[in-house]
Amino acid sequence: MIARVTLEIALRKEFDYAIPPELASRVEVGSRVKVPFGPRQVTGIVTALVEESTHTNLRSILKVIGAQSPVTPKVLRLARWIGDYYCCAPEIALKSVLPDSVRKEKEGWRERLHVRVAPFTGELPKLTKRQVEVWNIIEEWRELSLTRLLELSGATTETVRKLEDKNLVTIAPEISERDPYALEQILPTQSLEMNAEQALALEKIIAKMGELSAERGTWNAEAAAQGSALRTPRSAFLLHGVTGSGKTEVYLQAIAHALEQGQGAIVLVPEISLTPQTVERFKARFSSGKLQTLVAVLHSHLSAGERHDEWHKIRQGRARIVIGARSAIFAPVDPLGLIIVDEEHEHSYKQEEAPRYHARDVAVVRGQMEGAVVVLGSATPSLESFYNVKKGKYALLEMPTRADHKKMPVVRVVDMRAEGRKQKGTPIFSEQLKEAITQRLERREQTMLFLNRRGYSTSLQCPKCGYVAECPNCSVSLTYHRAKQKLCCHICGHDAPAPNVCPDVKCRNPAIRYAGLGTEKVEATLAKLFPHARVSRMDSDALKRKDDFRRILGDFKTGKIDILVGTQMIAKGLHFENVTLVGVIYADLSLHMPDFRAGERTFQLLTQVAGRAGRGDVEGEVFVQAFTPFHPAIQFARRHDFAGFYEQEMEFREQLQYPPISRVALLTLKGRNEEKVRLTAEHARRELEKSLAALREVLIAGPAPAPLARAETFYRYQLMLRTRQMPKLSQALTRFVETVSLPEDVNLAVDIDPVNLS
Ligand code: ADP
Ligand code: ZN
Repeated sequence: MIARVTLEIALRKEFDYAIPPELASRVEVGSRVKVPFGPRQVTGIVTALVEESTHTNLRSILKVIGAQSPVTPKVLRLARWIGDYYCCAPEIALKSVLPDSVRKEKEGWRERLHVRVAPFTGELPKLTKRQVEVWNIIEEWRELSLTRLLELSGATTETVRKLEDKNLVTIAPEISERDPYALEQILPTQSLEMNAEQALALEKIIAKMGELSAERGTWNAEAAAQGSALRTPRSAFLLHGVTGSGKTEVYLQAIAHALEQGQGAIVLVPEISLTPQTVERFKARFSSGKLQTLVAVLHSHLSAGERHDEWHKIRQGRARIVIGARSAIFAPVDPLGLIIVDEEHEHSYKQEEAPRYHARDVAVVRGQMEGAVVVLGSATPSLESFYNVKKGKYALLEMPTRADHKKMPVVRVVDMRAEGRKQKGTPIFSEQLKEAITQRLERREQTMLFLNRRGYSTSLQCPKCGYVAECPNCSVSLTYHRAKQKLCCHICGHDAPAPNVCPDVKCRNPAIRYAGLGTEKVEATLAKLFPHARVSRMDSDALKRKDDFRRILGDFKTGKIDILVGTQMIAKGLHFENVTLVGVIYADLSLHMPDFRAGERTFQLLTQVAGRAGRGDVEGEVFVQAFTPFHPAIQFARRHDFAGFYEQEMEFREQLQYPPISRVALLTLKGRNEEKVRLTAEHARRELEKSLAALREVLIAGPAPAPLARAETFYRYQLMLRTRQMPKLSQALTRFVETVSLPEDVNLAVDIDPVNLS
């Protein structure tokens, strides 16, 4: 037998190696192996086993790494699809399906010395007083880690070794699993009695599971290679349920059904909503009873060791449920019965570096490959998914009312132009919002205030000479951070001390002015307006240590904080019973982005933020402050009217042939010499026109400078391609990338279905 291996160095090629007899039983498709390559040794993944090779004198595999092959053939097939559809080399696609900690050889199980009572009969030998003390502890515990024993007894290792010499105990290394949630106390929960909407949704999901398991395995890999997978999914559901409609309960009971059928489940949650609260809801339901199983958690805040252990719990089949962020879609759950993508509209499901995959779309493809039901859930579905419903590709499940019969919060839009005429300077708090906060403080209820911009002021300007502090590396202005007394770039991280006078040598005006508003300033203004209120801020600046996030949320939950100010970090998933007021400081911030999805994003954000209010017994109230209060995105969000927003927004997308009407491929060229980047982009366009000539209906726009024209010292130009047949365009683009000749110092990135157009 010969193994075909893709190497972890990007070469867009596979290599054949002989399998030496002593490794024959251990090499399989998906095995990770060490092989000779030139004078080096490199690692790779076996992608196929073949009888013959066109090459002679094959070199042999040196070593198989790990006891179990890390990539299952199913996940391997998925990686191939990603390579094809997202135009990236197979090695890069493969790399993303395995966490680093599993791929790298050095991370392993953590072993700890364990002390156990040895089987012995007869009299206890003579022991010193100290030895007797230690022995008593061991006898009581029967087995415990050496570290724990030393803690409990205050003894030294020496004393324990003496007991070993006397054959009373054994000391041996044992695997001790790292459990990131070991310190959480989790109380088991039972299924809730469902309301009619929930029951109907669950019924349809379960019926589909039955249907699919009947025809499992008939999926055609060839068809997927040609990209039909994304065009004709038969299995996905879109669960459109308002915040608080009880989507999680539907997920939990659907998972329970999968477990009953002997299948596992993957639950994707945006990184930002993957809070201990969320994880606990899943762990609690499956922590006991006949469906008891481990729930593995995969996300970027785990240590490499924790991730290694979580992943192997899944691979070994001990954890049947996985909850995680984007990359958890590759978790080796087998057999897989159900994939849930919660908050499916979230942009963080898209990976912003190669492979630039969208985990929601990968979920749909994986579901189809493995005969698993896919449920995409959201209170504000993406236009892409809702369009798929309209075209009959996805089935719609609707839950328009709150499960606990709580009313939707009242949303009041405040016209900040009018406030501007009343107050001097640019207003931060309208009179109405101030009044509402005062009431909450009096009633000992809590408030959340939201502004999607961190820092203190967003720019530093000199009114005299017109100077604006800009980043030397990027085409953006610097943000003033008062706590640090620094001007910082939010793109590249550059920072500089904040000046007291205009830095222009000819000007030196001391009356230099900070303009624009960030969360830090909202917090400071609150402290002035409400000196007795307990205010905390939650944004990425405020979170310095690993557990800050949990600590702040904990304090908010236990009522130690009256007002929580934050960025989108507080917009998602959190619910606190005592929050009766939510304020959005400037709702228009996200409206004026150079992105065709700006309106959609604003609608989603406002709806999500509003959903944080009134989760308890008291009805919630939301104030949305805006300078363009009549913008449709704001007005439809005020009325909780997704369908209305969809109709209106689709007209605009249709006119301009933007997604979901078409699909987009974004080509970004970047380099340090602007002229060269521009010329290369023009050359690329000409070459593209030639190589896409055979495809019908591809619109090419550009080249033009990217909205973020310069980032981290690189100038950036873009070409935008629109088509209704992305799989064909992907294929053509792959060939284009392989053949087009570009200067060495200009880099080309291809992003299929981009969500970030900057
Ligand atoms: P969503 O995820 O749709 O925003 P959740 O799943 O968080 O909503 O549910 C909102 C609240 O309603 C939770 O406190 C949940 O425990 C409760 N809930 C869900 N389903 C039911 C039900 N059938 N009966 C009573 N309460 C429910
Ligand atoms: Zn910068």
